[in-house]
Amino acid sequence: MSKIEYEKQGVSRMIHLYCRKNHNTSGNLCKDCEALKLYAFERLVHCPFKENKPACKECTIHCYRKDMRAEIRKVMRFSGPRLILYHPMVVLKHLIKY
Ligand SMILES: [Zn+2]
Repeated sequence: MSKIEYEKQGVSRMIHLYCRKNHNTSGNLCKDCEALKLYAFERLVHCPFKENKPACKECTIHCYRKDMRAEIRKVMRFSGPRLILYHPMVVLKHLIKY
């Protein structure tokens, strides 16, 4: 799996968990979370570093829009520690990145 695909999967899991627990959805994301996921995917797809992508936290570009950045951080803070139980590797990578 490419690095970008791998990251997509990780971020998607986190958003799904966050939405399920905070917005009482099951299966499908609510409108806001769906938009956040699409936004995150788009940023990844357009990441100019592609396969050499550094940790987002250390990236010089900071490509997230300010409001989206705040949202994704909220998701990471909520889902990160919880997902560690289920998907240790994916999450550890993400906790380091965001
Ligand atoms: Zn939601």
